[in-house]
Amino acid sequence: MPRPTIGIWLVGVKGGVAATTIVGLCALKQGAVDDAGLVSQLPQFRGLGLADWSRFLVGGHEIRDVRLFDEAMRLVTESRVIGRELVEACRAELDLIDQRTRPGTIRSVGPTIEQFASAGVPREESPRQAIARLQKDLSEFQQSHGLEHVIVVNVASTEPPLDRSLLPASWPELERELDGPAGGRLPASTLYAIAALDLGLSYINFTPSLGSSPPAVGELARLRRTRHMGCDGKTGETLLKSVLAPLFFCRHLPVMSWVGHNIFGNMDGKVLNDPVNKQTKIASKDRLLGQILGYRPQTLVSIEYIESLGDWKTAWDHVHFRGFLGTPMTLQFIWQGCDSLLAAPLVLDLVRFTELAWRRGELGALTFLASFFKSPYEVDQQSFIHQFQMLEAWAGRERG
Ligand code: NAD
Repeated sequence: MPRPTIGIWLVGVKGGVAATTIVGLCALKQGAVDDAGLVSQLPQFRGLGLADWSRFLVGGHEIRDVRLFDEAMRLVTESRVIGRELVEACRAELDLIDQRTRPGTIRSVGPTIEQFASAGVPREESPRQAIARLQKDLSEFQQSHGLEHVIVVNVASTEPPLDRSLLPASWPELERELDGPAGGRLPASTLYAIAALDLGLSYINFTPSLGSSPPAVGELARLRRTRHMGCDGKTGETLLKSVLAPLFFCRHLPVMSWVGHNIFGNMDGKVLNDPVNKQTKIASKDRLLGQILGYRPQTLVSIEYIESLGDWKTAWDHVHFRGFLGTPMTLQFIWQGCDSLLAAPLVLDLVRFTELAWRRGELGALTFLASFFKSPYEVDQQSFIHQFQMLEAWAGRERG
């Protein structure tokens, strides 16, 4: 097997999405699973020269002092979503990733996330010190494994929202103010993004947290001739919204209201049970309907933590729309998906497409990845099929 040359650095490396991504990558390397759920394996992306799974090596930042193997086993014993033999076969790799894990930062993540942090996570460092420490970890990972490039993917818990207008608009201003009031507001996800982009590494934000979304951080990406994309992986209810809303638009069926109730019980659900952290997710889930329909129907998005459901997310949506002669009609759907298993293949796809974008020297926001996100950076187009065509068009250009 060829030596790994590309690093995947997962922020939140012991969480549910991360553990599933790692077990999935390990199983793919072993040829133990097929490619269901992996977009990059579709025929239209063949011949692009996407990197083989054997090329990737995983490390990461984490705030909880737990063993990755134990976290992965929770997918077997608690969520019952994957077979024990799959995790057992990856045990050696999971133990190695424990050794490649470094303490993260909990700057401005709010009390709900802070409570999970173990004693080894620094609490007194300034934003500038935190960035320098994270960069040291990233550089050591890259150098000690002789990696050509590292892609940092944020799969950590969802932070409380921050009004971006409170931040300086340009990178030089934000850089100057890192240890001032602006820097003090920056949540951990943005410190990780700055750390990665400043080193010229690629950064992907799979969460709705602020990450690299402030314009000043986008400018940093361009200045350092690197790339980034986000945010918030589109895996379930919102994916369906972005497929179904265009139907109502194209058939001229005015939507009067769209109500979505989401229940699930994993650790992500526990964090989102905090009304402040929940606000970030709800804003991300609610945004796209107005953009697709061109008007804002009455909407309600609820997210409730129901412990017994574990990783199994259930979404029930009720869409009330008006037909010919003003007759009200209803569409209802129930989506029952295993959250981590929906997310993990997308993380692997994102890494693979980003790696190719790095080899081809693409810079700034990778807008061709819009179909993977609920709130894609610099893209107004929210219809899933149009976003997917953007990915296909990019592949066509890469090939051509
Ligand atoms: P999780 O709670 O299982 O995992 C999050 C991990 O991040 C935990 O191990 C936690 O200790 C760690 N963490 C928290 N703050 C950190 C910090 N500042 N630095 C380093 N590590 C930190 O959650 P999950 O189900 O794996 O989801 C991960 C993220 O992905 C969440 O923000 C979630 O909203 C987002 N997301 C998930 C899905 C999906 O699962 N289908 C879809 C879209 C987005």
